[in-house]
Amino acid sequence: MPRDFATVVGNEAAVSALRSAVSGGRSAHSYLIAGSAGSGRKTLAVAFAAALFCRGGGALPCGECPQCRKVFAGQHPDLSWVRGTGETGTIKVDAIREARLAAYTLPNEADWKLCVVDGAEQMTEAAQNALLKILEEPPASAKFLLLCENPTKLLPTVRSRVISLRTTAPAHGDAVAFLTERCPDKSPVDIDAALRLSGGYLGGALALLSDDGALGDLDLAFEALDALSGTSLYDACKLLAAKAANRKCLLALLDAMGLVLRDVMLLRAGAKAASLTLSARARDISSLAMKLTNQSASNIMDKMASARAAVMQNASVPLTALNLFLQCWEEIH
Ligand SMILES: [Zn+2]
Repeated sequence: MPRDFATVVGNEAAVSALRSAVSGGRSAHSYLIAGSAGSGRKTLAVAFAAALFCRGGGALPCGECPQCRKVFAGQHPDLSWVRGTGETGTIKVDAIREARLAAYTLPNEADWKLCVVDGAEQMTEAAQNALLKILEEPPASAKFLLLCENPTKLLPTVRSRVISLRTTAPAHGDAVAFLTERCPDKSPVDIDAALRLSGGYLGGALALLSDDGALGDLDLAFEALDALSGTSLYDACKLLAAKAANRKCLLALLDAMGLVLRDVMLLRAGAKAASLTLSARARDISSLAMKLTNQSASNIMDKMASARAAVMQNASVPLTALNLFLQCWEEIH
């Protein structure tokens, strides 16, 4: 986790705006950071909170003082996060009212209280109107930071009360260098694919490269599809039963197989090898594209989606996996 503005990769414009506002002692009472998931919004929020609360010297935040440490440890009493609840992640008016009450109490340790509304577009209209009242007459020692993906889902009146910043993807070379350092066990091929899939955003790329991420199982996905298009159904099922032994493994395998099949379909539709997401594996993709028709690839994707839904609803993993692999075999042969 990057600890301060200096270690945030990319997002230069947002970093520069927040850093100069804090160090000049003229930070606004409300900001909005908009950008895709995994583009660094939360990293910026944490760096901003630390800079705001920091009691160290030099460039803010110092990263070392007790204030900074508490922010980075997620334990600062003056930093609060409002997040959605339930399956839809809606932020209801009660949550904003609670934040409002907190904003009117004095800070515990820092000079300010900072309330971060994460997923601000999930606020109901009533919640947004409640927030608007605070933004119109902000308490003297409270600041607000809204994080969202799509600012057009916020009321224009809310947008007009905040200083808007956007996250941007870092330069490709910087992103590759960052990911290579953070994921030393990943190949350049995987890192390149992760960046293509995440639109160049580091958080998204890191999630894909994690143990649970789709790219963690790319080799296995090729192995699985090779086995399923091979000559022995028994061998294929034996291999896959071992590799998809639990829900987490099966879901990761499905994600990775989805990426491979997507490229197979693109290649069959005439895409150039260089434009594939997994372009560095173009040879493997091409070999699979010779074994699959568009229809069979598409049918397999549908069956994978059904298997995923079944497993998410607690269906038996071994049975769901076996059923899926048998269906895949029939589609291919
Ligand atoms: Zn500090």
